[in-house]
Amino acid sequence: MPRPLPRPGLRPRAIVFDLDGTLVDSLPDIVGSFQDAFTELGLTPPAAEAVRGRVGLPLDAMYADFAPTERIAALVDAYRRIYPQRFTRTSRPFPGVPEMLAELRGHGFLLAVATTKRSDMATRFVAAMGLTEALDHVQGTDGFPHKPAPDVVHRALAALDADGTWMVGDTTHDVGAGKAAGLATFAVTWGTHDAEALAEAAPDRLEPDLATLVEAVLG
Ligand SMILES: [Mg+2]
Repeated sequence: MPRPLPRPGLRPRAIVFDLDGTLVDSLPDIVGSFQDAFTELGLTPPAAEAVRGRVGLPLDAMYADFAPTERIAALVDAYRRIYPQRFTRTSRPFPGVPEMLAELRGHGFLLAVATTKRSDMATRFVAAMGLTEALDHVQGTDGFPHKPAPDVVHRALAALDADGTWMVGDTTHDVGAGKAAGLATFAVTWGTHDAEALAEAAPDRLEPDLATLVEAVLG
């Protein structure tokens, strides 16, 4: 896909997206892998609904909600073995996402992912979802503070050498990170957090899907 034409004398503008639950319908594979790690260690897995609301946090923080402290490291290790074996079992881009990304590019925006996944796994996953060519940068969280801290957003924008415009995400952590980085925020309810939880974070837009994103960013 052709990159947008540079605007002479102006820094490019970028839109930053969360990945899981925002661009990609990946929560069942994440939740299933999370539960399978318990089973592998002979522990009783928590209910899927309870896990779903925690997706988007780092793995150790997710496991800390459901497991004794001394088992967390082993559970994280098990997840990192299990997830790459099943991460494309049911995961797919949400309907209309590839077309929406292409349309935003057509309006001259650079497009980045900023995820709490590690960069190596995030890059593999983006490729498996067929989205590599649709994005200009994939930024994972590699040993620095995770969302809602703005670090992963700042790094994505620095990699693109672009000014951030909107942060798009499915959790209050995404909204918090976007606000902390000085971006407008677009929250979508088809992922991890429901409308009531997302409204508490007071995003600029709160929508059931990404159908209105292009209109929002063009303002
Ligand atoms: Mg998410």
